[in-house]
Amino acid sequence: MKALLVIDMLRDFVEPDGALYIKGSEKIVPAVKREIERARSEGIPVIYICDAHAPDDEEFRAWPPHCVRGTRGAEVVPELAPVEGDVVVEKTRYSGFFRTDLERILKDKGIKTLRVTGVATSICVLYTVADARMRDFEVEVVKNAVWGLTEEDHNWALRQMEHVLLARIV
Ligand code: ZN
Repeated sequence: MKALLVIDMLRDFVEPDGALYIKGSEKIVPAVKREIERARSEGIPVIYICDAHAPDDEEFRAWPPHCVRGTRGAEVVPELAPVEGDVVVEKTRYSGFFRTDLERILKDKGIKTLRVTGVATSICVLYTVADARMRDFEVEVVKNAVWGLTEEDHNWALRQMEHVLLARIV
């Protein structure tokens, strides 16, 4: 059984006026949308992994405040909004597994393989994929449905996931 992960496709990252806009990330929205629609039509669970910070989160030492829980910036971009039956997992660190129910949710559903989309390739995507691989989930990273802070970071992270973490880049 497979699940689709949609990581941090939130207004603050993806919209040009967002608090921590990742330049160019809006270009992957159509590819992520196709992945979501295909998963829903095939009965594959769609799991949104979403930053949801406290206003004074420790992470804001490294980054400008972003995706504060309950604010507009923390919402999934409207084109990709979750529907009934999708799962939304809130996180406060780069990894979707850290202090969340993600592992339990995946095990309860009998999921063995994660198909990964979202941002940023070298941060939340990379650390979530790393934690998934440490737990022996198979991982497929959809190359045209992830994007990084820079093209260089994006390409480095894809290589790291492929060669070190043994994720499949598809
Ligand atoms: Zn964050």
